[in-house]
Amino acid sequence: MNAITVDKEGFYGEFGGAYIPEMLYPNIRELQDNYLGILESPTFRHELQSLLKDYAGRPTPLYFAERLSEYYKTNIYLKREDLTHTGAHKINNALGQILLARQLGKKRIIAETGAGQHGVATATVCARMGMECTVYMGALDVVRQRPNVERMKLLGASVIPVEQGNHTLKDAVNEALRDWISHPEDTYYLIGSVVGPHPYPDLVARLQSVISEELQWQLREKTGRDAPDTIIACVGGGSNAAGIFYHYLNRPEVRLIAVEAGGKGIDTKETAATIALGQTGILHGSKTYVMQDDDGQITEPYSISAGLDYPGIGPLLSHLFRQHRAEFYAMNDDEALEAAHFLARQEGIIPALESAHALALLNKINFPEDHQVVINLSGRGDKDLEVILRNKGITE
Ligand SMILES: *Cc1c(COP(=O)(O)O)cnc(C)c1O
Repeated sequence: MNAITVDKEGFYGEFGGAYIPEMLYPNIRELQDNYLGILESPTFRHELQSLLKDYAGRPTPLYFAERLSEYYKTNIYLKREDLTHTGAHKINNALGQILLARQLGKKRIIAETGAGQHGVATATVCARMGMECTVYMGALDVVRQRPNVERMKLLGASVIPVEQGNHTLKDAVNEALRDWISHPEDTYYLIGSVVGPHPYPDLVARLQSVISEELQWQLREKTGRDAPDTIIACVGGGSNAAGIFYHYLNRPEVRLIAVEAGGKGIDTKETAATIALGQTGILHGSKTYVMQDDDGQITEPYSISAGLDYPGIGPLLSHLFRQHRAEFYAMNDDEALEAAHFLARQEGIIPALESAHALALLNKINFPEDHQVVINLSGRGDKDLEVILRNKGITE
């Protein structure tokens, strides 16, 4: 197996790079030239560690799910990212990038969001740092994700509805880029997953790698070994997967499994399973697998979980697929709903519907009885309560 790394131009094998308009070169170059130095500096590391611990609530527990393990006849551990401040792994990245922005002397943060969860994480850290925050969001998503819009506003962010195109995420990305081009000096663009032009995928993977860093010592404490047999994570853009895979990427004895959102099925048009259905293309400034139609137009994705509703996947994940380093599965809406309901009843934990896609895989693969399987519980399910209840026929 070839080592899984990113090269100086931001490529993982053939995927990645920085495919951006020339007017964005100065912004991206500043970031490329400085991110590693800042991330590795003692002041940055110290400040990030302290915020992750006291503000975000890290380390998150590694929980041995006893009843789930009994049922599936294997050893299942849940990495509890749902217990972080704001309820998902996204805070790890948002905290890291806002400290980076401050080191770069930026005063103003912009972001784009589809489901609104990244917008909330960004608005949260902006409030904490006293920085101005502007979040672009497709006008349709503003309506669909009203509770998150209200959270962002309460936290002091301006939410700008984007009326171009389909009024969804893609259009919000374009507006954010336009803003950044007009404000190269004082503005930082805070991206929410392992996507975008180099160095974002590597930057976000490093910031999320705190998940697998903790996993190593937590497993050693519990099992005497620092590696599990299998790790399962759901994939939208791929940041929670990249984070929990990170320290195991070059340890081929650990089986890595990524679960995409099949939506209503990969044989329907209502799906977000990029690896199952996509082809190589350019999305959000990098070369990667993208869901597109015959004319190369990006198709509108669909999943019951808004956080997996993305028409692409980060270049690292595309590379892991191409290298056969990770296996990819697609689980559908109904399978995720069932898994969310089952975890609630078995363990007293209501997972985000995103994370439930990873849990659902347990019904598809039988793991040996003596195996250690770690599932990344990327977020909590409070935000999905209404959808879960409605679909399980519990209300009315
Ligand atoms: C945003 C989100 C995801 C998907 O994003 P990745 O970058 O693929 O991790 C998964 N789970 C939760 C809870 C999320 O909020």
